[in-house]
Amino acid sequence: MDYSLRCNSLKCRTQLEGRAVVTTCSHVFCLPCSESLALANVNTNTRVCPACETQLSNPDDAVVTTLNPSEDYKTSVLSGLSPTVIMECAGRALSFYSYQTAQEIIYQEFLARSLTDKYANLSTQMDKIIHDANSEIVSLRDKLSGLSMTATHVA
Ligand SMILES: [Zn+2]
Ligand SMILES: [Zn+2]
Repeated sequence: MDYSLRCNSLKCRTQLEGRAVVTTCSHVFCLPCSESLALANVNTNTRVCPACETQLSNPDDAVVTTLNPSEDYKTSVLSGLSPTVIMECAGRALSFYSYQTAQEIIYQEFLARSLTDKYANLSTQMDKIIHDANSEIVSLRDKLSGLSMTATHVA
């Protein structure tokens, strides 16, 4: 059940593939966003996460990562580390992933809620329009029968 992460910039939400910037506060951004939000520049220690405003003062607080790593990369990335560190890295990466999926669910729920609200609004508007149209019809009918009564009277 793999799903692809989306850029955490709400204006962007691009589906991420290839390379992306991940932060230690569990956020992820596409490369163009990380450029424009000045995340990519490691030389400044004034970086701030655009999603949660956490200070990213250490160089490794925001790094470029490859989302579809090569076999070589998978082989070498944790090689040389002790089992404890390997498990720590894996554990943190898993909490990153579960945080991202949880955020996506919250976002989708928010979307669903605002769509439901919109639908309820439209439905109220429709009811009002139908009600108005019906009273218009009734009053026209009354007028018409009034007219035909006068017509019969004249004849
Ligand atoms: Zn983006
Ligand atoms: Zn953040």
